[in-house]
Amino acid sequence: MPAPRFLNAYADLPERFAAAIPAQPVKAPRLLILNRPLAEELGLEPAWLESEAGVAMLAGNAFPADAKPVATVYAGHQFGHFSPRLGDGRALLLGEVVDRAGQRRDIQLKGSGPTPFSRRGDGRSALGPALREYLISEAMAALGIPTTRSLAVVATGEPVFRETIQPGGIVARVAASHIRVGTFQYFASQGDTEAVALLVRMVIGRHYPHLETHENPPLALLHAVIERQASLIARWMNVGFIHGVMNTDNMTLSGETIDYGPCAFMDAYGSARVFSSIDAYGRYAYGNQPRIAHWNLARLAETLLPLLAPEPEKALQLATDAIDAFPKLFEAATTAGLRAKLGLAVEDNGDLALAQDLLAVMAANGADFTLAFRRLSEAESSPEGLDSFRQVFATTGGIDSWIGRWTMRLSLEVTSPAERRARMQAASPAIIPRNHAVEAALEAAVMNDDLAPFRRLHALLADPYSDHADANDLALPHAAPDPGYRTFCGT
Ligand code: AMP
Ligand code: MG
Repeated sequence: MPAPRFLNAYADLPERFAAAIPAQPVKAPRLLILNRPLAEELGLEPAWLESEAGVAMLAGNAFPADAKPVATVYAGHQFGHFSPRLGDGRALLLGEVVDRAGQRRDIQLKGSGPTPFSRRGDGRSALGPALREYLISEAMAALGIPTTRSLAVVATGEPVFRETIQPGGIVARVAASHIRVGTFQYFASQGDTEAVALLVRMVIGRHYPHLETHENPPLALLHAVIERQASLIARWMNVGFIHGVMNTDNMTLSGETIDYGPCAFMDAYGSARVFSSIDAYGRYAYGNQPRIAHWNLARLAETLLPLLAPEPEKALQLATDAIDAFPKLFEAATTAGLRAKLGLAVEDNGDLALAQDLLAVMAANGADFTLAFRRLSEAESSPEGLDSFRQVFATTGGIDSWIGRWTMRLSLEVTSPAERRARMQAASPAIIPRNHAVEAALEAAVMNDDLAPFRRLHALLADPYSDHADANDLALPHAAPDPGYRTFCGT
């Protein structure tokens, strides 16, 4: 049962990139969940992770000899305001492991104790939010959306003090890397072009190796990140995911979703939907996400200006051209996703408008986003299927005329109805982490130490594109959704 072998490329960067942090043991660590398939994917021994030494590592109590735990420094625009120094205030990067596919992956503990970047925070996390990150990041992965993963959750046996006293928890997070737009901003805001250049090299080496031989690597990197983020946000939008805190420090260069705080999946469709308690003005509302991503990427472009070209005007032009490509890239990605959701394999110019008109009817009728698209996949196959789709809408006029248009559009298709149904079901999940289901699972785990509801929900979310006839209580919207439902950052 060998311990993991850590590499330390990030910890070995010059000193100004991260602070070494000693172990800060917790009182009574208890392993609550271990992600065995992920452990195996990473080439880690599940039995070792469950052993005393493994749990000690996952709790931040003691580390294998070759781990070099560090807290990384970064800056970030939080709700549009620049904070020149944020950094890992409650997280510890243990190092990198090389997974079975040969990819380098970070292992980080979140909730592991104070660091020089904690400011007024305690460096800890409550157990509920740690479990929430585990559940939702794993659900995103099962949906096929690029995301950081969760390896384990440990209960610390210590209280954390928030509005109430809560049990503490630590989530072990796995990421392609933790390099954020805010990491670039930290160094660029200090005029440290050398550090930015170093980050460019590291990010290209880890995430975009095909760009290594490009004639202008920083520019090629900017284009590549913009493309990945456009695709990522389109995927979020097409499953109704609302990140909730799209600050620049919560946007990765790798293109993975990161930092599951007050995120939520939308129930009733509406572009202004927002759940986060800290987002009073709806800056990060569902429909604003593409615009915010675009804005964040412009902040990334600014950090690269000195590296794009020796002449400032030329650099600005290159950056502007790259950034201006975002809306088109996003539209192409979202249209492709919506076509799949409508069962369209042939491309027609009117497809985006057809999809947007469906969304407008959904908005006007308080239709549940997930249920509407899933039931649309059955609307063609039987009168009952059609009827159950119509029932998602409060009134039928708008949707009936839309169905007429959709049916006409289907006549352009060459795929069979059965193929179409399969295609639609692969694009529109039957189950997502609904707020009521997540709340119930976390409450049982935290209040009653009962992980059974959590495990049941987690197992269903691992297979989101299949129907689960015995899981209507979790798959369907709440009978009486709480209009004032809010999610919290959990810090
Ligand atoms: P987040 O909301 O997770 O994106 O965090 C924003 C910033 O606040 C990051 O620098 C975090 O490390 C820091 N932070 C969040 N919670 C805590 C905490 N409990 N203690 C110390 N720092 C924290
Ligand atoms: Mg963050």
